[in-house]
Amino acid sequence: MRRLRRTKIVATLGPSSSDRAMLGRLFEAGADVFRVNMSHTSHEAMRDYVAMIRALEQSYDRPVGILVDLQGPKLRVGNFANDAVMLEKGATFVLDDDQAPGDADRVLLPHPEILMALEPGHRLLLDDGKIRLVAVETSAKRTVTRVEVGGRLSSRKGVSLPDTMVGFSALTAKDRSDLEAALDAGIDWVALSFIQRPDDIAEAKKITRGRAAVMAKIEKPQAVHQLAEIMDFADALMVARGDLGVEMPLEKVPGVQKHMTRAARRAGKPVVVATQMLESMISNPVPTRAEVSDVATAIFEGADAVMLSAESAAGQYPVEAVTTMNRIAEEVETDPIYGSIIQAQRAEPEATGADAIAAAARQIAETLDLSAVVCWTSSGATGLRVARERPSSPIVAISPNVATGRKLSLVWGVHCIVAADAKDQEDMVDRASRFSFRDGFSKAGQRIIVVAGVPLGTPGATNMVRIAFVGADSVEEA
Ligand code: PEP
Repeated sequence: MRRLRRTKIVATLGPSSSDRAMLGRLFEAGADVFRVNMSHTSHEAMRDYVAMIRALEQSYDRPVGILVDLQGPKLRVGNFANDAVMLEKGATFVLDDDQAPGDADRVLLPHPEILMALEPGHRLLLDDGKIRLVAVETSAKRTVTRVEVGGRLSSRKGVSLPDTMVGFSALTAKDRSDLEAALDAGIDWVALSFIQRPDDIAEAKKITRGRAAVMAKIEKPQAVHQLAEIMDFADALMVARGDLGVEMPLEKVPGVQKHMTRAARRAGKPVVVATQMLESMISNPVPTRAEVSDVATAIFEGADAVMLSAESAAGQYPVEAVTTMNRIAEEVETDPIYGSIIQAQRAEPEATGADAIAAAARQIAETLDLSAVVCWTSSGATGLRVARERPSSPIVAISPNVATGRKLSLVWGVHCIVAADAKDQEDMVDRASRFSFRDGFSKAGQRIIVVAGVPLGTPGATNMVRIAFVGADSVEEA
């Protein structure tokens, strides 16, 4: 099975997509990576998803990526005596460390590290940003605030702190336990929520030790301000527009999305655009015009993947939502403007052998109108550098490591094949031709370009390009 588009689709799993048959339908409709959101999933349910996806891989003989999204430090206020209070604009409201139930004057904030970190002038956004408080007086035990935007505040509502650098790690005890369980289950990507700084990624990488790739969800202004440093550590980025739109003015989010997409493309790291892409399809079989335009914008920008959240996890039309994304991607990518935008934003190669070879392979493929760029990639690094070039010819990545194939399922344009390592250079070229024919990228008589590192199996040694014919023997043997 091959996709007729370059942009990948991530589908979040949940009650609407929890059985094997539905997973198969989502995959057939176009889902390349499945996301498991640990805010709503038990370890047992996560393991069931992993088992079902691995069974699906076997039946389609295609690597499928699994992204486990950790909840992160979700901050909440304590309980109110009468479950809720009305906060009036201009009133004074206190958050403190007192366990007593709250009232219209005060409530518990059960996170001492926040009380320590808040400073006068910092904003506190409650209940998805519906209520806004500003700190007036702060101490280690209480923060006095002024209500700037009032409303009804009920027990255990979420608190966002766009101005405060909080001194705790982005990995809570629940995240650590979820991460260990996910790594044991053999997942491919882990997404970290509410990170503030590069150290948050470094901490997760110490735990994962290469067993899964780490995606930084950018959903706090603090992370936006340190994007370059975060990107140095992270393997991929997610534009997590849901929480970003709570912590930043909504009108700033599209600009952040563009900056992030371009920065990730320059770095050659995958970037996923997420949240509310086809929101109305949670309860409608067709999207709004604006949603179609939003998905198209992310694709025109060259994002590696677009993501569905509640649309596929809890909506009434999960298959239709994936089908819709697939159709939008196929249409956008055939528009001549797409090619010109992708080309205009291509970054110069870095001064490495891998980049020089990737850039040369793209240029040769385009000059000679070759049917595919086929790269042999052990860790996936060569596949990523070739994808960074955004060639107009399809990219076929062959890897002996199933984990690499699964990881690359998130990456723009990469069709990954898991196969035993080549015996020698001739075998490398022969099998590149055969796979390219078998999977529908090349016809007999067409040419491909093969990219590899020799000696074989030496990670980071991309040093070879070769133009090869897809001959009749490839066709017979395929
Ligand atoms: C987001 O906030 O956009 C996001 C993807 O995170 P979550 O769905 O985990 O809230």
